[in-house]
Amino acid sequence: STPGGPKAREEKIVVTVRLRPLNKREQLAKDQVSWECIDDHTIVYKPPPHERVTQPASFTFDKVFSPACLTETVYDGVKNVALSALNGINATIFAYGQTSSGKTYTMRGITQKAVNDIYNHIMNTPERDFTIRISGLEIYNENVKDLLNSDSGRNLKLLDDPEKGTVVEKLVEETANGSQHLRQLINICEAQRQVGETALNDTSSRSHQIIRLTIESTLRENSDCVRSFVASLNFVDLAGSERASQTHADGARLKEGCHINLSLMTLTTVIRKLSVGKRSGHIPYRDSKLTRILQHSLGGNARTAIICTLSPALSHCEQSRNTLYFATRAK
Ligand code: ADP
Ligand code: MG
Repeated sequence: STPGGPKAREEKIVVTVRLRPLNKREQLAKDQVSWECIDDHTIVYKPPPHERVTQPASFTFDKVFSPACLTETVYDGVKNVALSALNGINATIFAYGQTSSGKTYTMRGITQKAVNDIYNHIMNTPERDFTIRISGLEIYNENVKDLLNSDSGRNLKLLDDPEKGTVVEKLVEETANGSQHLRQLINICEAQRQVGETALNDTSSRSHQIIRLTIESTLRENSDCVRSFVASLNFVDLAGSERASQTHADGARLKEGCHINLSLMTLTTVIRKLSVGKRSGHIPYRDSKLTRILQHSLGGNARTAIICTLSPALSHCEQSRNTLYFATRAK
């Protein structure tokens, strides 16, 4: 079947959860595994002995991926969303989760697999001419930086274009002349984000990265159905979800640097309202840079997939629970 037909547009946001294995540090600290995927849709809390569980212990989603799942399998869960961009439907795939839960690991793999699939589709669709352009940006403290142009400075302006909607002024867009070249450009974006990381302590936990592919195609033959498609496919590696945490009501001191991230907070509100549907009223896209930039790739006719990444460790239990609550509200 064709990816993203009219039926697919009616679907809600695809929400998946990926539970990673315990890492070395967690193993050395004798941290316990506190979550288990009991089938393809259900993840459950495994309390330590004698703990009385007073909060929900079982959560269901479109797909849950156990620690044994490869990124290949995770990609299969969001593939239809990604490939809808080949047919002119804007699409966005997010990784959401606390720092060190596996967002970057997952998004990098997903991006690579999507690129492979896109070029396979192009090979198998000789009747159409495709053009793929790429841009990459990072949002840090509501400042936008171009990941393909290190000279751009840290504060690109957002402009309102009457046709295209919000555009990032002077953002470099490169045309890929093949899958190899596209991969190179993606690598440049990822390397550029890491450069920032050493200069500014802990950037990746506070910043959002968007890699945007713009996929354009036209029918080659002068047939009756001369149709052209254009759509964006966005891969979004979000700031650590601990940045969305509210101040503790008990007045406990905020963990240093753990201030609320405006773009992340606004995104969670936007996603919650989109998942409620038509009755949700005003959707505050314009309240943050992230949601302004993604506005046309979220809601409306666009398709969205969220991969929530989770550490299995008991020591991260509270953050994992917050992530699952967010995922539940996004359904
Ligand atoms: P985040 O971007 O959420 O902060 P990372 O993607 O950097 O987290 O992951 C933290 C560490 O855990 C990295 O060393 C990464 O390679 C590893 N990791 C994450 N997810 C997995 C996984 N599913 N399987 C194996 N290792 C993983
Ligand atoms: Mg990361």
